[in-house]
Amino acid sequence: MMTAPDICPCGSGKSFSACCQPLLAGDLSADSATELMRSRYTAYVVRDVSYILRTWHPSTRPARIDPHTIPAWNGLEIIGPETIDETGRATVEFKARASASSVRMLLLHENSRFVRENGHWLYVDGDVRESVDKATNKPGRNSPCPCGSGRKFKKCCGP
Ligand SMILES: [Zn+2]
Ligand SMILES: [Zn+2]
Repeated sequence: MMTAPDICPCGSGKSFSACCQPLLAGDLSADSATELMRSRYTAYVVRDVSYILRTWHPSTRPARIDPHTIPAWNGLEIIGPETIDETGRATVEFKARASASSVRMLLLHENSRFVRENGHWLYVDGDVRESVDKATNKPGRNSPCPCGSGRKFKKCCGP
């Protein structure tokens, strides 16, 4: 893990220690899918790979995540309140921005799905609504997947 930031990367405006840190540390579990979404985003920012994997449903979890392939995420926007369907699955819509290098900017707009098992929310998968690589202004389908699996986006989390 990198040096702990003061302000939580998830954009809540709270300090890291009063927001996502206790979730990453395993001291608390997320109360809602949105809270899990925020904490998983924070885990990508601080490259806490073990948290990313343990909050990922085993049915869709990649075998491994290479922290070196995770882009530098620098902005999260949760769009609207989460929705919960009749089976208890929650959907959270968000936009996230990252810089993959000094010239490449990524924008990811996704509806992520979550389930609750044994009292713990888990990320299942997502529908990517928009994925733009700003260097080319095309969907970055051949770029490394932002999830850090090291696979191409189109062969991993991409549509
Ligand atoms: Zn947070
Ligand atoms: Zn992926």
